Amino acid sequence: MLTPLQMVHEFLSDISQDAVVVDATMGQGYDTVFLARLSDHVFAFDVQEVALVTTRQRLSEQELTAELILDGHENLDLYIKQPVDAAIFNLGYLPQSDKSIITHGQTTLAALTKLLALLVRGGRIGMMVYYGHDGGVEERDEVLAFVMALPQNAYHVMRYGGINQAHQPPFSLLIEKR
Ligand code: SAM
Repeated sequence: MLTPLQMVHEFLSDISQDAVVVDATMGQGYDTVFLARLSDHVFAFDVQEVALVTTRQRLSEQELTAELILDGHENLDLYIKQPVDAAIFNLGYLPQSDKSIITHGQTTLAALTKLLALLVRGGRIGMMVYYGHDGGVEERDEVLAFVMALPQNAYHVMRYGGINQAHQPPFSLLIEKR
């Protein structure tokens, strides 16, 4: 059975080499590496320098490239002018780092709104929603309210996650532009 993160990766696995793709939350770079294996045009964002250092190292070990941007994903339109084929978000905080630096509903939704406008028809966005930390429930609820209100004739939106797990099991949101 797929975990929610594996489901996101499966959802994005058809990305082609010339696709324009975005890692909205670089963190330790695992998703950036996943995307850079598929595409030559990866834009990855994080607000923490440590994320760029770790990700740069991880990419170079695998002889992969991506454009690493030290800025919030809510500013992605300053860097990306072309249509976008796919994007990934991994909400929450950077593991083994400052747990007070988290993603927030307002900026996450600003980025999501900009990405949806840039997304090609058939383009996909996969989002991992973690909400066990302080501020996580608020962001989860803001994101859920937003995606549940996306017009059905313009977007397919699916949710995937365990429903019999203890604590706050993460789930994924899968969005496809029609
Ligand atoms: N995808 C990452 C990986 O594979 O390791 C994990 C991401 S981690 C759960 C969330 C990241 O979002 C943190 O590194 C944090 O610094 C970053 N972040 C917080 N606010 C952000 C923002 N406005 N724009 C971009 N990244 C942000």
